[in-house]
Amino acid sequence: MEIVKNLIKISKTIPDNVLIVAVSKTKPINYIKSAYVHGHRDFGENKVQELVEKHDSLPKDINWHMIGHLQRNKVKYIASFVNLIHSVDSYRLLFEINKQGFKNNRVIDILVQIDISNDNTKFGFTYSEFDELIKLNKLKSLKNIKLKGMMGMASYTTDLSLIEREFNDLNKYFKKYKFNLELDVLSMGMSSDYEIAIKYNSNMIRLGSTIFGTRIK
Ligand SMILES: *Cc1c(COP(=O)(O)O)cnc(C)c1O
Repeated sequence: MEIVKNLIKISKTIPDNVLIVAVSKTKPINYIKSAYVHGHRDFGENKVQELVEKHDSLPKDINWHMIGHLQRNKVKYIASFVNLIHSVDSYRLLFEINKQGFKNNRVIDILVQIDISNDNTKFGFTYSEFDELIKLNKLKSLKNIKLKGMMGMASYTTDLSLIEREFNDLNKYFKKYKFNLELDVLSMGMSSDYEIAIKYNSNMIRLGSTIFGTRIK
């Protein structure tokens, strides 16, 4: 199967500490199953409904990553099982995830999404917004979330030097908080730019098309 071949090929070229999140959005269950049978356990989705459906019909030892923009009123559908939410982009969303974590009697791992790109279409805290959140100590009281790290998406561009700058900046920013906040996950890099991201210390890459083939949608 191509999917397994692709996974093996990529994992051979990246450092051992880098986790591949196989982004299975829009792809059928049997694609996920073939990676699962090979031993892969980390999958990413960007829509709540699709994530819930796939979670319901697949083995329960899969680690599900929510990587897309998340609306507050939908957190409740994934709160009982999601392993890591990469796309936390507001205090109100943090607050809601904490609330749903409490209801489900668990601590939900999250990453804050930082808006590192030039595109206006991307979500996330700006650097100064996140600074402010920490300065005001707003995370302290949220006992049912655990901030594990940061996520960023580079600009959609062919200008590789711009992508380098954006990943370099986020890496520096991550280091600024790493020890104080005990962060260990830096989620940067997709199919087109994961090699650059790894150069700047990414340890979680989110790969869709290089593993599963290009998407129609
Ligand atoms: C779709 C998506 C990816 C994977 O994109 P590819 O280019 O197919 O690797 C990674 N991260 C996020 C947030 C996505 O929505």
